[in-house]
Amino acid sequence: MNIKSLQEPLTKTEKSDLERYKVAITKLAHSYMECYPMLLDLRDRRLYREECSTFEEFCQKHWGFTRRWVNEVIGAGVAVQGLPENLGTKVPNLAAARVLKKIKPEKRADAVKKAAKNGDSVAQALEDIRKQQEEEAGIVTHEATDCEGYPIPAGLEEFYDRRSETDAILRQLTQVRVWFKKLWDANDPLVRYVPQHVRQHLDDAWTCIKESRPDVVCLHCDGKNSEKCGACKGTGFISRWRADNDTTGKRAARNKKLKK
Ligand SMILES: [Zn+2]
Repeated sequence: MNIKSLQEPLTKTEKSDLERYKVAITKLAHSYMECYPMLLDLRDRRLYREECSTFEEFCQKHWGFTRRWVNEVIGAGVAVQGLPENLGTKVPNLAAARVLKKIKPEKRADAVKKAAKNGDSVAQALEDIRKQQEEEAGIVTHEATDCEGYPIPAGLEEFYDRRSETDAILRQLTQVRVWFKKLWDANDPLVRYVPQHVRQHLDDAWTCIKESRPDVVCLHCDGKNSEKCGACKGTGFISRWRADNDTTGKRAARNKKLKK
């Protein structure tokens, strides 16, 4: 790495690009196809250099993105962008794009055409094709599992990896709750216009975020048909709390599969 260029101050154009990216990526964090070109440019032009010593540190600081998540988003975006005309629209989500990235570049277009015909889950269809290719090449891979040892379907691992982001939000929110409690208890004038029911809202926010943590592969769709699943809202995962409080008998069925 060129140390001198790392220390170079940002030019006016670089500064304005950086500010634009900071705002846009915060807004578009859910859309990997819109985010990845900006992340790529930020990384390649080292626009982070005045603030952080590494790209990873910058992404963690501003958006809480892990190194793996950023690499996945960039890799997936590049893979979809590299498809011939219009084929990119047949890759419906990041889960599918992630699997696409693992398929050899020269075989991607054919794989997407084949997977798109399969209907339900493009990610799963692409994964089947990928596995078949690996088997043909004699490669053995180990399956990823959730915290209970249940296999995570293709393309969903990176969302599962984001549990640490949930934990980071919860930690911060806890600090805010403690801080407010102190001020309220002391009748501090700083919070004179902040009514007590805000405390309940903060508690509710904490609970809802905790309930969104991707802990367990969805008991209802098994993460395989998550696009249409109301239980996991398209993510393939539910929280441990939701899993443990399931009243439909799916928890027991899963435990049986796990031989618990
Ligand atoms: Zn589901």
